[in-house]
Amino acid sequence: MSFSRIVGQDRAVGRLRAAIRGGRLAHAYLLTGPAGVGKRSLARELAKAVLCERAGGQGADSCDGCRECRAVDEGGHPDCGTLMVEEGGGGGGPAAGAFPSGQAGSGGRFRPVEDSDREIKIASIRELTRRLSLRSSSGRTRVFLIPGAERMNEEAANALLKTLEEPVGSRLLVLTTSRPEALLPTVLSRVARVRLRSLSPEEVEAHLASVKKLPRDEARELAAASGGSIGAALAASVAGVRAARRFAAERLSAAPGRPLELSEAMMGYAREAADAAGGKGKTLEPVRRELLALWRQALGIHRAALGAALGAGPADSADARLAALGPERLERAMAALLRADRALRDYASPELVCRVLAGELAAALGG
Ligand SMILES: [Zn+2]
Repeated sequence: MSFSRIVGQDRAVGRLRAAIRGGRLAHAYLLTGPAGVGKRSLARELAKAVLCERAGGQGADSCDGCRECRAVDEGGHPDCGTLMVEEGGGGGGPAAGAFPSGQAGSGGRFRPVEDSDREIKIASIRELTRRLSLRSSSGRTRVFLIPGAERMNEEAANALLKTLEEPVGSRLLVLTTSRPEALLPTVLSRVARVRLRSLSPEEVEAHLASVKKLPRDEARELAAASGGSIGAALAASVAGVRAARRFAAERLSAAPGRPLELSEAMMGYAREAADAAGGKGKTLEPVRRELLALWRQALGIHRAALGAALGAGPADSADARLAALGPERLERAMAALLRADRALRDYASPELVCRVLAGELAAALGG
């Protein structure tokens, strides 16, 4: 029963299963929700539920074990394609890499799971349309997944729109995005939208421990810093989390009165971490990701500090100094961190965001 592997998304799963059961699955779905809460996993499970040779009946779920199911899981099913944009090289077209099998690797640090920030261009969508027009070898529904759909440029989105307007044959498109506002309204109006919710640290921990078989203490540590993102937790290492956490605790607790120093330290940290992860500072994107990771650490510390304030147990010793600032100051600091997070998501300059944030943090924590 493979839909059951999706953590904490009973409503979204229930809606899709009801549609399968009632034979009224839409031609195109858009799965939305924060990064790392299971959008891609749900898209894949939906593909399996549609293609599974033992599917059917009231379960409206895949068997998770037949040849079809395994092929979808391994990325090699002839009737299930995933649109991926080739990493590196700087070439424009989709080349041969537009529909590779398998998953992108993950580094030792936190990565937002909308992993490739490369634009989806019209050539990729044309290739997808061409594949959609082919007949399925088995007469089954053809399923295409478009992760990170917000990466489509306007030309690509318009090309996809044509495909959405002319549903041909038996096919299912599943788009996923954490930024639906970045999609054209015309695209949004032609897909059935299914929202996934944020996960609690406890849900992330439970998933890491039970599905990924991580030791409980590691699972708890990664979950606390994950910002409710299973993807982020999976892409992180415990050592990386501890280092970033220590950095965040030390710097934030030293913030009052020293905004410039804090801003420089954060940028320095982000650059170093991005270089270590292979970013080499060529673009600001890896820096942005590391800064996001840092905010997640701060969130984890904040939660621990609040827990301590509410008597839920002592905060980690590395966080004690920060926790001592008290919940009101930390709330204000978190509001500033979340504003910075939003600005970074909107691709504001990390330097500028850091400078503004450092000033706000100094004011929030000093008050
Ligand atoms: Zn199956």
